[in-house]
Amino acid sequence: MKPLNPIVAACPPSGIRRFFDIAATMDNVISLGVGEPDYVTPWHVREAGIYALEQGYTTYTSNAGLLELRQAIVSDLSRRYSVSFDADSECLITSGVSQGLDLVMRTLLDTGDEVIIPEPCYVAYGPCVTFAGGTPVYVPSSPTFEILIDEIERAVTPRTKAILVSSPSNPTGAVQPAALLAALVEVAVRHDLYLVSDEIYERLSYGTAHTCLASLPGARDRTVVLGGFSKAHAMTGWRVGFVCAPAFVLELAGRIHQYTMLCAPHVSQAAALEGLRSGDAQVAEMVADYDRRRRLFVKGLNSIGLTCEEPRGAFYAFPSIRSTGLDSETFASRLLEAERVAVVPGSVFGPSGEGHVRCSYATALPLLEEAVKRMDRFVRSL
Ligand code: PLP
Repeated sequence: MKPLNPIVAACPPSGIRRFFDIAATMDNVISLGVGEPDYVTPWHVREAGIYALEQGYTTYTSNAGLLELRQAIVSDLSRRYSVSFDADSECLITSGVSQGLDLVMRTLLDTGDEVIIPEPCYVAYGPCVTFAGGTPVYVPSSPTFEILIDEIERAVTPRTKAILVSSPSNPTGAVQPAALLAALVEVAVRHDLYLVSDEIYERLSYGTAHTCLASLPGARDRTVVLGGFSKAHAMTGWRVGFVCAPAFVLELAGRIHQYTMLCAPHVSQAAALEGLRSGDAQVAEMVADYDRRRRLFVKGLNSIGLTCEEPRGAFYAFPSIRSTGLDSETFASRLLEAERVAVVPGSVFGPSGEGHVRCSYATALPLLEEAVKRMDRFVRSL
């Protein structure tokens, strides 16, 4: 047989999945591994989906998605972040941020173009760049997971096309200070680069205001904002997200979308519209609950000697495991084996992730308490 696509063949499978396939074969595992809310979608949103089915909304929508949903998204961004996008030409509904990321990379990149990505970062960033024919260029972040502007600027070459950032971050939970994001915009302007900002966790910020990258001076016309409903609205399975970007970018992204996806699922778009219009109270409740879990869990980790920066966003803690002398892969495998707690080795998120593990605290409080006890026993047994 002839060889398959060498770019895809060279891409390793996700380190997260590999680990969870092992955990799935074991009993009594507390999983802090999956980056997914433990809530089901709020009832009024599910009901809107059911109603959409009853109404027979089983067809395609326009390629860009329901106009009402696009209008609701741009007015929400305008209301909360004072950034304006045109619902007709600058907003596209996608099947999750995952599809948005793929579309955007295929739109921005020519073969061999480079994308600078501060790491540790979400596992899909590099592969999406590579599949689009580009080259990911990873740069380290500070020990407290702030982006390092000097490192980013040093990585710029004549082939650099874009910088891809995410705040709040998966896996670290770090929220980038507005001043650093403003400095990032200056770098992009100086070198004429696009900015791709994955803001899927924007509503999950604790005690700190979210900065929408496109709202910063000079950013609007070179920034692609990726957003979605999976996390804050607990809608991972509905597969709905959006891209907001300058019209000339979205025009081409829409062409790829038109030929490869047609549109995001109609019923999911109807449900997302309900979530956006009337879901603020439920989102606030879930965020308050994640915050309680976050404080308890991070305190617990620090008390057993796994030093953990305060994560200001998303629902991940990224404690250091250096005090144990184990690398992150060994720590995670042995913890799973000995105490049946599943965490993700930090190394799967990039070299700066080594020495850490990612723990999702989107898990019931009693389970988090039990996980801390088990981790304590494990650490003391070493
Ligand atoms: N971006 C980040 C940073 C994520 O953590 C995830 C999911 O874990 C995604 C994007 C994918 O989100 P979606 O469900 O909208 O495709």
